[in-house]
Amino acid sequence: MRLSDRIISIPASATVAIITRAQQMKAEGIDVVSFGAGEPDFDTPQFIKDAAKAALDAGDTKYNPRKLKALKQAICDKLARDNAVTASPDQVAVTFGGKHALYDAFQVLLNPGDKVLIPAPYWVSYPEQVKLAGGVPVAMPTRAESGFKITPRQVLDLAGDAKIIVLNSPSNPTGVTYTRDELAALAEAILKTGLAVFSDEIYENLVYGQTKFCSMAAIEPRLADRLVIFNGLAKAFSMTGWRLGWAVGPKDVIGAIDRLMSHETTNPVSFAVAGAYEAYTNPKAPAAIEAMRSAFEARGRHLHSRLIALPGITCVEPTGAFYCFPDISRHFGRTIAGVKVDSSMTFTRACLEGARVALVPGDAFGEDRCVRLSFATSMQEIDKGLDRLEKLLKEGSR
Ligand code: PMP
Repeated sequence: MRLSDRIISIPASATVAIITRAQQMKAEGIDVVSFGAGEPDFDTPQFIKDAAKAALDAGDTKYNPRKLKALKQAICDKLARDNAVTASPDQVAVTFGGKHALYDAFQVLLNPGDKVLIPAPYWVSYPEQVKLAGGVPVAMPTRAESGFKITPRQVLDLAGDAKIIVLNSPSNPTGVTYTRDELAALAEAILKTGLAVFSDEIYENLVYGQTKFCSMAAIEPRLADRLVIFNGLAKAFSMTGWRLGWAVGPKDVIGAIDRLMSHETTNPVSFAVAGAYEAYTNPKAPAAIEAMRSAFEARGRHLHSRLIALPGITCVEPTGAFYCFPDISRHFGRTIAGVKVDSSMTFTRACLEGARVALVPGDAFGEDRCVRLSFATSMQEIDKGLDRLEKLLKEGSR
């Protein structure tokens, strides 16, 4: 069968090759240390699992999850409580993960050729989702030297007739978090353009040191009619497999997403909705989030300090999410573990073959000088992997 032009234009993820190879090595009994995972390594808190089990036992197994309306209200309460954002339940769409919320929002807002500004390095799915909706992704380059942050000047220079700008703070893959003042300056610039804002806040709970998370929606009320927040339970509550996310925005946009979902997914999984409701309302939630956040903080600090001690590596210190995104380009031109290194992909290959350490090439995120390491893994694994990388980079080259 001939596939659609639409799907043919979407390349297979560049990360897949390396991850497949790492899995293959593990299956062969080779001891690979993986920094690839984009998900917390904790289990979902028990009180959330209990609520989902109780929902199943109570027969909440049909279309129209019983708790969906209550969950939408709980999301509004959460926004008011944690983010100083006001919204009503008819401004909330509950989806199959944050990824699905973003996908559908692009579908309902983009016409063929509409441009979407995406700060680079970016999460891999943004450009592909834009293309699948007929839009044109436009990368806004940033440099490690300026903390991988876009500036108001860039917004004004690049806005043109673009329709949407995507903001992701804290960021996957850089771990960078914008301050309140930086967001305010960006909001000021955005107001001078016709841009709508997609604010992907999925890592909001994972911020470190003195860093405070701030929602773009809390900064500038004048953006309210052109701003959509994306969030979900995957990262904050270690619920990646539950596929529960949400979008909050203007009623017409949310209504359109609901219309699209009525032909697409009908409703989120009934008992997952009951678990999500519990996550946002149970008084045990803040302590559960904090236990995971503080573990990530200690791991992130440790991973970062070990990375910058490696020869030829620099790395912006992550203030959020669970990724380090070091610049490895000083190794370009060398041969490491028999691999001629000239890109993030070849560096990654050298680390896998020569040190049995799996990294994700930065190329996939729009930055070929870097690689991504997730610190959603134990301290022991971090040290094991970094000991191996240290040995490889010090000795394994010629
Ligand atoms: N946005 C970003 C920046 C992410 O990193 C992810 C997950 N990797 C998502 C959205 C989507 O998360 P989920 O669909 O699991 O809720």
